[in-house]
Amino acid sequence: MGRWLVVVLLLACSTHAMPQKSASNANRVRTIVLDAGHGGKDPGNLGTKRYKTTEKHVALEVTLLVGKYIQENLPDVKVVYTREDDRFIELMERSNIANRNNADVFLSIHCNANTRSDPHGCETYVMGLHKTEANMRVAMKENESILLEDDHELKYDGYDPKDPESMIALSLRQNAYLDHSLLLSSLIQAQFKDRVGRVDRGVKQAGFLVISYTTMPAVLVELGFLTNPKEEDFLQSSNGQEYMASAIYRAFKEYKSRIEHKDVDMAQEAAAESTAVDTSKLAKDPLPDSGVRFRVQVITAAKRIPAGSAKFRGLEVEEDQEGDLWKYSVGRSPSLAGAREVQAMCKEKGFSDAFITAWRNGERIDLQQAVNLVRDH
Ligand SMILES: [Zn+2]
Repeated sequence: MGRWLVVVLLLACSTHAMPQKSASNANRVRTIVLDAGHGGKDPGNLGTKRYKTTEKHVALEVTLLVGKYIQENLPDVKVVYTREDDRFIELMERSNIANRNNADVFLSIHCNANTRSDPHGCETYVMGLHKTEANMRVAMKENESILLEDDHELKYDGYDPKDPESMIALSLRQNAYLDHSLLLSSLIQAQFKDRVGRVDRGVKQAGFLVISYTTMPAVLVELGFLTNPKEEDFLQSSNGQEYMASAIYRAFKEYKSRIEHKDVDMAQEAAAESTAVDTSKLAKDPLPDSGVRFRVQVITAAKRIPAGSAKFRGLEVEEDQEGDLWKYSVGRSPSLAGAREVQAMCKEKGFSDAFITAWRNGERIDLQQAVNLVRDH
């Protein structure tokens, strides 16, 4: 265990005024990244092979329609696509696009496949440990896209899409956003079932690479099985695509309204609480140089947690406010290996969701970018 961890200083300064988040910019859902699965040399699944168009085509059509409905009806939302035509985009780049755009939601759209023709219905996934083999197989199949990428072993922390063990480590990512991701996915499934009359296979969890590296609520939709002839006919039809896209659009609209409404309550609660608690401030010592630092985030909260709270389980944390959220991190390691040690220690303390973030000059940067920067030095 790295002893340097203790360098993080905790300075109590109880007279410091608590910064209040204003209701005007709190919990807004302003940017959505729409990710059409596969593309270019990656056709996705081929369905029954009665159509020339494959999963990548269906996913793109539905994705573009979702974006169109959002742009037409929710003018305060910026829509960013990972692809708008038939091209190959690496999975990591899809996450990077979302992270670079500070997206509030990442939505990846796919179609399912099975070796048998009878399975049908739609399901929506959030990151997590799969509860069934079948769910795990869906994620492994989607993750196989990286086999078409150069140097994929380097890019995904050694993830091997053929190895179920790989999946378990992966599934721990994204936990910080689980509540919001679950809300959005359940709204999507409700729309599919109630408004489009599709068979609802439910909200599920599994380790999908494409959502695992995003730093925002993220879901992956499986519109239906292209290996089921009836469902394939529906999903290949423009009618079917419009129905599914408008269902997703309505779910997103509902999600946005709930998040934005809920925030008013949360902001009021936070304001009320701030008068009742000691608003100690955790000092932020400046970075010793302009190099990359890896930290381990242990808690993400909608309300500020007072310094010394039992919630930190004795860890010396640093506090950051990012948008509407309070984030608590441990350690400032110059190497990913060092951060992994801290992460393991945090997990031993019971922070099973602890994950590594990367920083440069006080700004959060992409983890892969940080790894590359450190490697190049
Ligand atoms: Zn897919």
